[in-house]
Order: sequence, then C-alpha cells, then structure tokens
Amino acid sequence: MTQGLRLVLFGPPGAGKGTQAQLLTERLKISHISSGDLFRHHVQAETPLGLKAADYMNRGVLVPDELTIDIALEKVMSLNAEEGFILDGFPRTRFQAKALEEALQTRARNLDKVVYIDVPEDELLRRLAGRFVCRQCQAPHSMTPGGTDGSPDRELICERCGGELYQRTDDRPEAVQTRIEVYKSETMPVLDFYRERALLADVPGVDTVEQINKRVMKALGL
Ligand code: ADP
Ligand code: ZN
Repeated sequence: MTQGLRLVLFGPPGAGKGTQAQLLTERLKISHISSGDLFRHHVQAETPLGLKAADYMNRGVLVPDELTIDIALEKVMSLNAEEGFILDGFPRTRFQAKALEEALQTRARNLDKVVYIDVPEDELLRRLAGRFVCRQCQAPHSMTPGGTDGSPDRELICERCGGELYQRTDDRPEAVQTRIEVYKSETMPVLDFYRERALLADVPGVDTVEQINKRVMKALGL
C-alpha cells in the first residue's frame, strides 16, 4: 500500500474507540491520533493549553472548538501526505468535521472511512464506571467492583507496560452522565455529516474486542 488509510473512529464515550484504535494501529501500521490523549498530555505537562482544557474535561463537557481544532489538525498535518491515520475522539462537532475536511482538501484526498461503533447507553454507563486507564501507555482496563465499598477487584498495574492504573476524573459518575448528554446533543449530528458524504460504516459495539475488531476490518474491506 502506497497510501495509508485515513480513518475516523466514531462513537460515544466508552464505545471502545481507544481499544479498537490500538489494534488497528498495530495491524495497519498507521498513526493513532487521540484528541483525548493529546489533551491529557497537555494537562499533565501543565502547558497553557492544558490549563485551559482541564476544567472542561473534568466537567465532562467539550473543550471549545478553536482549541481542539488547532491541536488535532496540527497533529494530522504533521504526518507525511502518504501516511495513514486513525482519528479517535475527533471530530466531535460538525464544525470540527468541516475543519478537518477543509484541511484534508489541501492534501488532495479526503477520509477513506468513518467507522461508527454503536453501543447502547446502559452498557456505556456500566463500562465507564469500571474503567481504569494506564498513566503510562493510556491502555484502558475494565474492573468490576470487588469489595462492598466498590473498590476495584485487582491490582492497579497495567499488564502491558507495568504502569499505574487510575480512574479518570471524567469517568466518575457525575461527569459520565454529562458526557453522554453532550455526545447526544453535540456529537451525534456528526454522523449525518458523514452519512451525507457516504463515508459512514456502522459496527455494533457490544461483543468481544476480537469480534468487534473483525467487524471493523470487514467494514474497511480488509
Ligand atoms: P471519551 O471518548 O472516553 O469520552 P476522550 O479521551 O476522547 O474520552 O476525551 C476526554 C475529554 O477530552 C472529553 O470529555 C472532552 O472534554 C475533551 N475532548 C477530547 N476530544 C475532544 C474534541 N474533539 N472536542 C472537544 N473536546 C474534546
Ligand atoms: Zn500501560
């Protein structure tokens, strides 16, 4: 393949975009660009952008478009024109989708596919409540509360890299409900944007990670 695939993984918070993006990156040898990870790096490093973004993120609302578009597109445009990528968490508004389309127009080629991982709301709530993330490699892990106090049932160590697992502030119950509401009102309309352009592929997202990966590969014609 001379030209790498240009993909967007789309779906609600907790749909498994990060997990699927990681598998696809390994299999297709293309770059993974996660807007959430980009923001979290800025927050940890306390950059001016991180300081601005942190408050929005902790509340579970979207970071304003002007900040988001700059950092996401900067990353996309830093790749070679032939290099493929998987966008995960961006675009999340119609305005962001339009900005991405315009940026890619300067590169002669639009996206190849937008894969929509569809998961019902009750399942999302369950997953996000049990989600822990590695501080080092960002891999998501799911926990079922073990003790009666709701504490996790195993050691908080990443089996991929040995890093420490933690629960994101925005995975706490107060923020989770807000994120789902924000998804419905601001992000869902992006689906129509891509449907109109015939780029959308639907993948049911409740199954094993491997099964979903197979469906995603099939949706990509691979
Ligand atoms: P999830 O997909 O689990 O909701 P992410 O890691 O993608 O979480 O994003 C975490 C937070 O970062 C979001 O709730 C939001 O505040 C901010 N964020 C990430 N991507 C975007 C985006 N494209 N537009 C606006 N805010 C974003
Ligand atoms: Zn790790």
